[in-house]
Amino acid sequence: MDFQPDPGLDAFRKEVRAFLRESLPADLAGKPVGSVRSVRADLVRWQRILNERGWGAPYWPKQHEGTGWSVMQRLVFDEECVAAGAPTQDGFAHKLFGPVLNEFGSPEQQALHRPLILSGERLWCQGFSEPGSGSDLASLSTRAERDGDHYIVNGQKIWTSYAHESDWIFLLVRTNADAKKQAGISFLLVDMATPGITVRPIRSIDDCHHLNETFFDNVRVPVANRIGEEGEGWKITKFLLNNEHATAADLPILRRFLAQIRSLARSEHSGGGLLIEQPEFAQKLARFEAEVSAIATMVTRVAAMEEDHSPAAHAMGSILKVRGTELQQRLSEFIVEALGDYGAVAYPEPHDPALGEPLPHQHAGRGKANEMFFRRASTIYGGTSEVQRGIIAKMLFQL
Ligand SMILES: Cc1cc2nc3c(=O)[nH]c(=O)nc-3n(C[C@H](O)[C@H](O)[C@H](O)COP(=O)(O)OP(=O)(O)OC[C@H]3O[C@@H](n4cnc5c(N)ncnc54)[C@H](O)[C@@H]3O)c2cc1C
Repeated sequence: MDFQPDPGLDAFRKEVRAFLRESLPADLAGKPVGSVRSVRADLVRWQRILNERGWGAPYWPKQHEGTGWSVMQRLVFDEECVAAGAPTQDGFAHKLFGPVLNEFGSPEQQALHRPLILSGERLWCQGFSEPGSGSDLASLSTRAERDGDHYIVNGQKIWTSYAHESDWIFLLVRTNADAKKQAGISFLLVDMATPGITVRPIRSIDDCHHLNETFFDNVRVPVANRIGEEGEGWKITKFLLNNEHATAADLPILRRFLAQIRSLARSEHSGGGLLIEQPEFAQKLARFEAEVSAIATMVTRVAAMEEDHSPAAHAMGSILKVRGTELQQRLSEFIVEALGDYGAVAYPEPHDPALGEPLPHQHAGRGKANEMFFRRASTIYGGTSEVQRGIIAKMLFQL
């Protein structure tokens, strides 16, 4: 592997920075994101700005109206957006569903959904997990029965992030109860406004509402909304989940956490001096710096293996997920620790407007405990750490 600096990539970074300086509205920059994605109004506004620049789909190839950027360019783009405090894009649409639409969608489906993803007018959520079917996803039981040119969908999904703010859902359903469990699954696209869908909030430990239970009661879905053939849902799901693992370490977030700690180290006092002057604190910070650098190197290696479908390459994605998410948890805990008493203050939704007259440190502490609690989930969503370790063992040791 060549770890020499890439002048082309440096120029690209400058271009992204210049764009962010000019085009990221001041009232959107630095708003707390809270968890997976920004609030709808911010996200839609930012998506429109990106799309006008021709950067509406940074993760898609050119032939599907994406930017056609390399993996390293995408990493640079994400890193600069996080550093500038830009709102998120709709990751479910861009990183998960979009590649499926591009690979398996019919020309009619692509023509229908792609422009609305690019313009930000249609937000998506993911209806995979069910009570009792998470890691063992293929055991899912939400069923879809044929009725002429429609399916009738009945069942329940759970942990549906942002179902309450989404327009459409990509859904796994059982279309054949008699086939082998993987073979009986199909992939449907469903308008969340269809009669028979009920969304109930689940308030999580970070004191935010992003999770939901989603119920389907005789929901009529046109057969034309199925991606691929009936029974092909599992093949499509494996394709989608592979994309999910590759970005799970969330290097830009790790770097943002590190920058926050560096800033606190130079501003917060403890025991009569600055935090950074305490050898124990400085040593811990240095260790974290080294760990984030190690993850960055791993990300570069995984990026270079994009076209490599060997067991070793597959295992690298899982190793990155385990190491990256564990580091997210430890870094977010360190931020709360560095804030001392202010880190323990409970805040309402980090999205809520700031208080009128903030107390000293209130802004620095705002949302940090929420973030720390949210990150407890990072070793669960996108495939739990235990399941990832199983994959690593299977791939590397042929167990
Ligand atoms: C914040 C958050 C957001 C989410 N968003 C979405 C979403 O938008 N859409 C969606 O569909 N799902 C979503 N999920 C669900 C997520 O994909 C599942 O929680 C995850 O796959 C684990 O499934 P489970 O919760 O059913 O746990 P289970 O699979 O029941 O696991 C329970 C425990 O058993 C362990 N375990 C299970 N199988 C094995 C095994 N083979 N080997 C070793 N240990 C094992 C697990 O590691 C875990 O510790 C989200 C979850 C969270 C926490």
